[in-house]
Amino acid sequence: MGEPLYSPEYVEGAHSVIRSQLLPRLRRGGDELAADDVAPLLSAVKGHQMAKAALEAAVLDADLRAAGVSMASRLGGVRSRVAAGVSVGISASIEELLETVAGHVESGYLRIKLKVEPGWDLEPVQAVREHFGSGLALQVDANGAYTLADAPHLSKLDAFGLLLVEQPLRDDDISGHAALARKMSTPICLDESITSVAIALDAIERGACAVVNIKAGRVGGYLEAKALHDACFERGVPVWCGGMLETGIGRAANVALASLPGFTLPGDTSASDRYFRRDITEPFVLVSGHLAVPDGPGLGVTPDLQAIDEVTTFKEEIIWQTI
Ligand code: MG
Repeated sequence: MGEPLYSPEYVEGAHSVIRSQLLPRLRRGGDELAADDVAPLLSAVKGHQMAKAALEAAVLDADLRAAGVSMASRLGGVRSRVAAGVSVGISASIEELLETVAGHVESGYLRIKLKVEPGWDLEPVQAVREHFGSGLALQVDANGAYTLADAPHLSKLDAFGLLLVEQPLRDDDISGHAALARKMSTPICLDESITSVAIALDAIERGACAVVNIKAGRVGGYLEAKALHDACFERGVPVWCGGMLETGIGRAANVALASLPGFTLPGDTSASDRYFRRDITEPFVLVSGHLAVPDGPGLGVTPDLQAIDEVTTFKEEIIWQTI
């Protein structure tokens, strides 16, 4: 994103760290550089998971295109289409929210996620539940907006039959989430807190979450995301695929990831037209609430160079010389 408001990373910062810190280290991989080498080569640099994930995804795509293998089969996907959900932001009014949700339900989305925050939680959730009935798959995401002192208030969400409540407390408050989980029956899902497999396993073992939102960028790449999926799958912890407003390039990778067997809940893998008039690949379209998993080599989508050119604001060419 343009500003570091979801995580410490943002576009300009990622650009800078890729150029000055990550690419020079990646060059040490030489001409035989493969996707599995990327994380070890970059491990000396602390954090910057999204910037690292961008590089690993590029190398992985190149590897797979050369080998004629799809991203989904490389990661171990088992489905040809994935169930799609949609995330709805804070609205100006309940009426506007109901109208937005109605549009998404009509489009065929199989799960609705409502963003919540103090002052916009019980009332909108109740309104959506009452208007659309108990059959609507519904969950909420607080992006860390509450504290453990809000537990009695958050527990009132239990009345609405939610699939889960996502990241109610701050990202660094694992013990707070464990304490909250003991006070409410709605399953707790962690998003921002999960920056690696090790942290996820710690959170699961401490009872801080019963569901994990997997975002490849947040954990440093699609290979770590697959490892995180595998670890959760082994322990019977359901996962779903989060989103960061991806273009068709990132969406192709997310849809491939979401085709793994442990992704048993619909993800934030919305169709292209949810965010873009024109995507920079062939658009992802919703068919009966699902997106098709690309089966071509690599990401399986083709960057639309003309569309990219039209929205390009800055260009930098880096000559690849291995050392
Ligand atoms: Mg979230």
